[in-house]
Order: sequence, then C-alpha cells, then structure tokens
Amino acid sequence: MKLETFSWEVDGDGIAHAVFDVPGRSMNTLTGKAVADIIAITKEVATNDAIKGLVLSSGKASGFCAGADLGEMGDRAGAGGEKKQKSVDELKKEQFDVGFSLNGTLRKLETCGKPVAVALNGLALGGGLEVALACHYRVAANDNPKIQFGLPEAKIGLLPGAGGTQRLPRLIGIQAALPLILQGEPFDAQKAHAMGVVQELAPGTETVARAKAWVKANPKAKAPWDEKGFKVPGGVPHKSPGVGQVATMSNMMLAAKTYGNYPAQKNILSCIYEGIQVPIDAGLRIETRYFINTQQRPEAKAMIRSLFLSTQALSKGANRPAGHPKTEFKKIAVIGAGLMGAGIAYVQAKAGIPTVLVDVTKEAAEKGKQYSVRLVEKDISRGKLTKEKGDALLALITPTTAYDDVKGADLVIEAVFEDEGLKAKITQAAEAVMGDNAVYGTNTSTLPITGLAKASKRPANFIGIHFFSPVERMGLVEIINGKETSEATLAKAVDYVLAIRKTPIVVNDSRGFYTSRCFGTYTQEGLEMLSEGIKPAIIENVGRQAGMPMGALEVSDSVGLDTALKVGRATAKATGFDYNEAPLGKLMAWVVEDKGRVGRKAGKGFYDYNEQGKPDRLWPGLNDQIEVKIDECPPALKKELTNRLLFRQAIEVSRCFEEGVITDARDGDIGSILAWGFAPYTGGCVSYMDLIWGVPAFVAEADRLADKYGERFRPGKMLREMAAKGQTFYERFPPAGEKPKVKEPA
Ligand code: NAD
Repeated sequence: MKLETFSWEVDGDGIAHAVFDVPGRSMNTLTGKAVADIIAITKEVATNDAIKGLVLSSGKASGFCAGADLGEMGDRAGAGGEKKQKSVDELKKEQFDVGFSLNGTLRKLETCGKPVAVALNGLALGGGLEVALACHYRVAANDNPKIQFGLPEAKIGLLPGAGGTQRLPRLIGIQAALPLILQGEPFDAQKAHAMGVVQELAPGTETVARAKAWVKANPKAKAPWDEKGFKVPGGVPHKSPGVGQVATMSNMMLAAKTYGNYPAQKNILSCIYEGIQVPIDAGLRIETRYFINTQQRPEAKAMIRSLFLSTQALSKGANRPAGHPKTEFKKIAVIGAGLMGAGIAYVQAKAGIPTVLVDVTKEAAEKGKQYSVRLVEKDISRGKLTKEKGDALLALITPTTAYDDVKGADLVIEAVFEDEGLKAKITQAAEAVMGDNAVYGTNTSTLPITGLAKASKRPANFIGIHFFSPVERMGLVEIINGKETSEATLAKAVDYVLAIRKTPIVVNDSRGFYTSRCFGTYTQEGLEMLSEGIKPAIIENVGRQAGMPMGALEVSDSVGLDTALKVGRATAKATGFDYNEAPLGKLMAWVVEDKGRVGRKAGKGFYDYNEQGKPDRLWPGLNDQIEVKIDECPPALKKELTNRLLFRQAIEVSRCFEEGVITDARDGDIGSILAWGFAPYTGGCVSYMDLIWGVPAFVAEADRLADKYGERFRPGKMLREMAAKGQTFYERFPPAGEKPKVKEPA
C-alpha cells in the first residue's frame, strides 16, 4: 500500500501499525492527502484478512494531529463565486459526499470488526481528537506536560465535522461534552483520563506497546454505542428531564453570550440535540449537514482567515521587511514609568530582556517597577510562577533617573505624557547617549510620528510603537512608520514586538494612526444616536448585540467624557463646524462641565459606577437632558442601528486604506479585532466589508445611510472603484511583495 503521510508495517501477529507523519511539517494536520491515506488504511484493514487489528500513532514529537488543515481550508475562504452548471440537488449531494468522506471513513474503521487503538504522545486537537475518538481504545502519555486534547473548532466558527459532536457526548455524557464542544477549551491527559476520553495513561515510551497489547487482547472490539442496549451516560434530553434542562439552559446561556451572532455554536447545539436521539450512523449524517451549513457561512470563512491564518502569520512577523538581520535585544530602556511605561517594562522583563526604567524622580521610577512586583506576586500566589523565577524577572528591571543608564540600549521606548514639547526634549536627551544603530520608539497614542521625529537627529531610526492598555493583557502592538523611518528600523521594531510575544500590525503615519482613528468612530456614532433622542439603553444593547465588547456610551466613559468633549471641539474647529451649537456639543458640555461627570475615572459619567469601578446602571439624570424620542427597539430599528454602528467604523477603515495609512488587509482585520474589539464573528472590519456584505452591497448600504444620516457614511472613490470591479480588500491589499489582484469591470 502506497501512503504519503503515514508509514505502514504489519507485524508477525498481523497487527498493523500506521505512523502519522506528514512530510516536511513539524505538526500533522488532516490535509487532503492525509484524509486520502486514512481512507486507504481503512480499506486495507477492513478487507485484508491477514490484518488482525490496527494501532495508530504519530512520528512527530509535537503530537498526534492538530486537526483540519486550515491553510487548505483558508485557501478556499472567500473564493466562492464559481458557477457550476449543476442542479441544486446535484450540488448538495456533491457537498455532502465531500463533507462526509472522513466522517464516513472513520465510521467504517470503527465498525470494521477488528480492534483499533491509538497511542497519543502529544496534542490531539479538532480532527486529530476525532480520529482518536473513532478508535476503540486510546492510550495517552502521562509524562508530557504539554499534551493537549480538545475540540477547538467553535473558536474559529466551525463545528467538529468528523464525528466529534456525536462520539464525545455518547462517551462522556451530554452535560460534560457540551462545554468542551461549545467553548473549545483544551484539556490535559489527566483530565481526559478522569473524564473517560482516554482509557489508559502510560509513559510516552510505552504507549504504542500498550496500544498493541490491547489490540491483541481484544480481537472483537466494538465502540460502546455499537453494543446492544447502549445508553448515553447521564441520559438524553428527550427522555431525561435533567438533561433536557441542561439543553434548555445551554440555549439560553448561548443566546445571552453570543446574541445569535455565532452560527457555529447554535449549530453545535442543534446537531448534538438532534443527533443524540438517533442511532450513531444517522447522527453522523446530521453532523455532516450541520458542518456544511456552518462552513459555508461567511462568518466561518472570515473567522478562519482572521482568527487563525492571519493572526498566525502576523504573530510570526509576516509584515517584517526581508533582508535585515534579526535583532536580539540585550537591553531596552523605557522612559516614563507611568501606566504604560510600567506595563511595557513588565512585558519586556517577562520576555527575559534587561530593562532600564527611567522617570523624573527615583520614587516615580520605583513606583513603575512596583507594578511588576504586584503582577509577579499575584502569579506566585496562584502557583503560575515560582518565587525564584519571579525574583529573576524583577531583577531584570532597573529603575533610575539617570540617562547614563540608557547607554548601550538597543531600543528606547518613550512613554511620557502626551505632550509634543516634552516628547521632543526626551528624544534629544536619549539620543545624546544612544548608540548609532539604536532605535527610538515613541508610544504616543495620537501625535503624528513624522512631526515628533523632527526633534530627532536621526529620523530614520525613529518609529511609533503604540501599545494598548493594560499592556500585559493586550495582544496587539501598532507599529507606525514615520515619513523617514527606514526599513531596518521597522524590521527591528517588528523583532521587538515578536520578542515580547505580541502581534504587530504595521501602519503609516497620520493623526490617530489606524486604531485610535477608527476606534473613535464607534463612540461618535453612539453619541450621535444619543443626541437624536434614542434611549441610552437601546444604544448600549444594540452595540453589544452587534458584537462589540461594550456599549458605545460605556466606551465613552472609559475613554473619558472630558477627552471626548476636547476631541469633539478640536475636530470641529479643524473642519470649521460650530460644535458648541450642535445638539451633541451642547449635551457633552452639559454632562462634563455642568454636571462634572467625566466618566469611569470619576465614578460617574453616562453610567454610575460601584466601588469596584464597575458600571452599576445608566445614569437616570441623562434622560432629563435628552428628549427621548425613541424608547422601543423593534427588529427593523435594531438592524438599522447595528448597521450604523458597524458601518461607521468600517467606512473609516476603508478611508485608511484609501489614504495609504494601512496597506495590508490582514493588518486591518487583526488590528480592528485586537485593538478595539470589532465584532470578532465578522473576521474584523475588512472582512465585514469583503465577506459579510461583499463590497458592492456594502457600498450601496453605505450610500443609503449617507443619504439618511450624513456624509460621514459616504463611500470614497476607492470603494466605488472596487465595487465596480468586484474587487475585495484582500485582493487589492495583499501582503507586501505580492501583487494586487486586479479584476476588470464586470
Ligand atoms: P502616565 O501619566 O501614566 O505616565 C507618564 C509618566 O511619564 C509619568 O510617570 C511621568 O512621571 C513620566 N514623565 C514625565 N516627564 C518625564 C521626563 N521628563 N522624564 C521621564 N519621565 C517623565 O501616562 P501613560 O498613560 O502611561 O501614557 C504615556 C504615553 O503613552 C502617552 O503618550 C500616551 O498618549 C500613550 N498611551 C497611553 C495609553 C493609555 O491607555 N493610557 C495607551 C496607548 C498609549
């Protein structure tokens, strides 16, 4: 038998051993070739009388299998559009056959009449675990702390489609299986054993021998669900009131958490509920139908592309310019030990980089270091860090007031107050002691980099490195090229972000860069709605139901209503518009200046806050000032408001592309999800336009909104051109070095 992704041998007792080992990869995935090999192996085991049983294992140190090959799946994402001359029924059958190929094969293997066991020495996730679940016996290594099992499909908008939704509940009961499938969190070997997902634990060097021994001792193996009189552990929803209640509660909890935005989770519940009531063969067919339905949803395509493929690519430095040697950071100085500087020092020390933390006084610098002390103590108390490692981390941070200590740093990060004059002074003081090749990065959140670089003697080495708060929890860093920033400097900045284990996006200079500029439009639209007389609770609920992490008014409170008023006045001044006379300007001035409600930091803003700083309730006094004209939200209004909130952000993103602020579609999507939490089920602002709407439909809806609510929604020239050509953002703005795909007008 000729296999490309498995090695194959049969021992003297007729026990076959297939070792999964996809050539040229460090980890096995279920590529098209691997699935073809599993089909061939199944056929051989089922039909060759000389074979008495099968043991599966892996040739990779990393584990058995990480699941479906999302790269192959992602290549198909957004492709669509092929028009085949086939009837709907023919197409449906074809899709079903493709979708069922692995599922049906694994069922054949499970019912071939010969025992099948698997040795799991490392991770088995998604399709990898599903293959294992179709074996009669699973032995896992008990000496690999990195071992992980799980069905993470739901996290990227998919459902397990190779039997996972049917076998896991039949194996461990619906109540235990539901959270594992709906939330997709991984679990270790000990937990897998305790739950009954694996039957035996053994040292990694013995798992294959144990699996073989079991196969030899159990020639007539069957899955539990193929035994006569099988009952699902804990019962099934339509017969057992307790399990019925679990199913009902799960539905309610899901609706409360996802607002129906995530088709995968909804389909998983239906698939388990329907599939568990019928024999497993019918259940597997039900699963495949739900799998196809889920996979074809634009949400799945968008989530696979953004949350898996692009995130992975950017986290490996996909947007780093080639041809520059990688920098190993031996010392980094952080100037300004406030909220941001303290967090930056911590993540650097956590990554093992010696860090000098500079502030105006010794106390201020020390206070900055104390931030790390608190984080380290918390980790030690939770058993996440040993005292020894914690001390070593803290020893890497040197608080100081002396610029002499900056000498020899490969990189300086400036995080002082947002003041152009002060920042200029810091640049000059640091450059006086910095080495020739050292890079200077400013953590400004709004000031254009090219302007700040004017204070620098070597603007080629000057760059924006924009963190988000709280630094230790936010995964994104926005790197901003100034006009004169060199490629070598950009490469160094990307190396830095990767070294501190965060995801970089790279953008060009403009006021507010990419993230601050676009993020603000969500709150601005919420404030517009408020000034129109839409009840505050409606604005907040619609925002959250649209998939945003907070309502627009709550976000405004977090940013600070005084800041919002200042920005509103400054922007209006620049555009010659009288903000103070506009309804929104009057409302904001009343809240901030008359009522002194400046937001979360003061414990009062649009919301009242409790002692823990959490929003207690919307401030009732707000209704006194605004004339509430709309206090009910029927579905049509909800749709309208949802579109306003999401379109406003997406249009600003499109303008950033048109103005050259951002040049890679992946940066646009990942930036919007990781920086300001743009509805993740859409795959980000760019995929929202490309996949959820499609550019032509997006442009038409944006025009409608512009006619009704104002020019802020009007699509630019570039969007219209893209709509006419049928071009997507991913085609027009591919990774640097790849040519844009240009389509002729349809
Ligand atoms: P902060 O007020 O908490 O800290 C500023 C620190 O700079 C203070 O400790 C201050 O003593 C120090 N400082 C002032 N003058 C100095 C000098 N001459 N030399 C050395 N240190 C000096 O401010 P922050 O929130 O940490 O913000 C710092 C920068 O980061 C600002 O540019 C801000 O716009 C930007 N930023 C802030 C956030 C955020 O959420 N707070 C997010 C991204 C970027």
